[in-house]
Amino acid sequence: MQYDYVVIGAGMGGLSVANFLAKYGKKVLVLEKHSIPGGLVTSFARRGVHFDLGILGLYELDEGQTIPQFLEFWGASQVPTRPLRGNLKCFIDGTEFDIEAGKVRESLLEQFPKNRDDVNRVLDIMHAINKEMHSGKEAPEPPYDMTLFQLVKFGMNAMRQRPMFMKYGNKDARRVLDSLTTCDELKTAVYSKAPYPMVFMAFAYQWSVYGESRYPVAGMQAIPDAAVESLRNQGGELKLNAEVAEILIGNGRACGVRTTDGSVYRGAVISNVSPQFTYEWIPDTVAAKARMKAAIARRRIFEPAAALFMALDESRYSLGDLESISIVSTRDYRMTTGEYRPDTAPICINVYPGIEGDEFRPLVAIIPISYEYHNFWETEAGRKRGQSYRALKQEVEATLLHRIEQHLGTGFTNALVHHELSTPLTFERYTYSKNGSFMGWSITQRDYGKFLRQRTDIDDLYLVGQWVFPGFGVAGVMASGYYLAKEILKSDGVDLKKDFAKFFA
Ligand SMILES: Cc1cc2nc3c(=O)[nH]c(=O)nc-3n(C[C@H](O)[C@H](O)[C@H](O)COP(=O)(O)OP(=O)(O)OC[C@H]3O[C@@H](n4cnc5c(N)ncnc54)[C@H](O)[C@@H]3O)c2cc1C
Repeated sequence: MQYDYVVIGAGMGGLSVANFLAKYGKKVLVLEKHSIPGGLVTSFARRGVHFDLGILGLYELDEGQTIPQFLEFWGASQVPTRPLRGNLKCFIDGTEFDIEAGKVRESLLEQFPKNRDDVNRVLDIMHAINKEMHSGKEAPEPPYDMTLFQLVKFGMNAMRQRPMFMKYGNKDARRVLDSLTTCDELKTAVYSKAPYPMVFMAFAYQWSVYGESRYPVAGMQAIPDAAVESLRNQGGELKLNAEVAEILIGNGRACGVRTTDGSVYRGAVISNVSPQFTYEWIPDTVAAKARMKAAIARRRIFEPAAALFMALDESRYSLGDLESISIVSTRDYRMTTGEYRPDTAPICINVYPGIEGDEFRPLVAIIPISYEYHNFWETEAGRKRGQSYRALKQEVEATLLHRIEQHLGTGFTNALVHHELSTPLTFERYTYSKNGSFMGWSITQRDYGKFLRQRTDIDDLYLVGQWVFPGFGVAGVMASGYYLAKEILKSDGVDLKKDFAKFFA
């Protein structure tokens, strides 16, 4: 079957580029190995409770933000959402700290009375960084597309227009927090929002949008579902349960794919899958393959997580108006994910609003434990999930539940009607996101901003999603679809940026 573009993967990156191309009359096919679209934005049900994979809320679902704008441009139905305004509870080495939504500063000042100046300094800097990040009127261009002159001008403008971002935002959060306060509990409280080594900007963003995020009334799955609806309305196709096993190359160009059942779909190829997997599907006879693999071999990947999905019977235990509970230690702040063990790793429990009709409340605890943990979770080099893998998973789950119980009481664990652990290997197996990463490449100071290009060394083979510009996050990967479509459509004389601006003028 002949298409203009065959997209591998119906993650939000793949669905985005497919929608933009379909809107401009391209014949597009999206192939998805899973039985539902969305990749890391899918939901699943257990005992009648709907769980999302871990995203609690998205600021970018708000009116006028990326997600509703893109959906509108594609002609999709809007996704009804509700605001998230819950409070946070943070246990630091057993001591409880509470943060009220909309009153972060007041809550921290009250609980860190000896460090009032530090609290104000940290929050002022975060606020300034966030303001600078949102000050641009237009989406930035991919830096690798700029000429040397544009790049120098961009750098000079950044120094002038985004001084706080340049001074603090793109530096490692630990380094920045060390320079702003000596209070370990305060640093840990800030760090507890997402306890991963990242640039400070990531924390500034998360704290600034806390209390401003929205959650789809029907759960996160509503976002990919809306994108699939518009894709079909625009003439595009989606095939589920279709796993690509090979990228076909003819005359040096990508010209189609072969799926595991032997079907062939012809067209230029766009992969929404991590490059480490995508490149393996290129035949060894293609000279560029070794070069492309070598170019990414040493890049560091964002550390993954184990996720503990729990369904809570609220008639037996109530979490009140909590949105999140973290169980952390001042020690976390100096550790890497590779050093965490189930009995030491931070535990961040997201309390979901739940969707109408569900009897129990869905909770998802995110626990940073590495892909390599305990000999790749007892799967060794072959990554074979057998008895030892299952036994280790059970042991880890019991340790985590015990730690949660120590903080929330036996009443909590007794009120759980279901619990189930996924490991980084589970995330990898479902999405082929390398090592189970849910953010693409590492975003530490050393790694942040080194974007992979969407064009590859092979003609007509492109990448889209969290591994390419502008990187991770639902809005980020949808934007990567926009940038790739803009580049592709240029040769047809389409100025997507102009059309997009005109549409919303
Ligand atoms: C716990 C957690 C918390 C997060 N928190 C946030 C947050 O707060 N805010 C935010 O914006 N983002 C968050 N994210 C990140 C966000 O979900 C991802 O960055 C984004 O969804 C990645 O999208 P993608 O399109 O790049 O890739 P993916 O979603 O990984 O999609 C890839 C798709 O390709 C398919 N596929 C793979 N191999 C094949 C094949 N051979 N053939 C066919 N199909 C294939 C997969 O099944 C999948 O559907 C979080 C993610 C997780 C898991």
